[in-house]
Amino acid sequence: MTRSKALLQHAGLEANVNRTLVLDAVLEAQTALTPAQLLDTLGPAMNKVTLYRILELLVEHRIIERHSGPDRAFHYCAGQGHGHFHCTRCGRMHCLTLPESTEALTSLTSSPLGRVDTVEVRLDGVCQNCLKA
Ligand SMILES: [Zn+2]
Ligand SMILES: [Zn+2]
Repeated sequence: MTRSKALLQHAGLEANVNRTLVLDAVLEAQTALTPAQLLDTLGPAMNKVTLYRILELLVEHRIIERHSGPDRAFHYCAGQGHGHFHCTRCGRMHCLTLPESTEALTSLTSSPLGRVDTVEVRLDGVCQNCLKA
């Protein structure tokens, strides 16, 4: 069984063809992808409305995460509790494993302002590819 099928079934979702295709594309990417980038990857066989619906479903079941990019477009990627390196030139959101010691961040989750549910870490800069160009 592929990882995407296992994840879908674990969440109690039917692993149909479209869901598997979308999840595979998200899992294989090293960056957090926008729906437009996913449509490019998946080709003309994938319908935009279907894609949006599947992404919502996957987020709802916490199989993938939705991050808001600086361009206000949503980016989707798998795996939780990681940060992103955003390239201000090409706009890619690279997934970034956070260092083990995130005490400073964790302490924010007991904010006096109220209950914190998620902490998003985004570093802005210029990626290796763009630096070389
Ligand atoms: Zn770049
Ligand atoms: Zn990510």
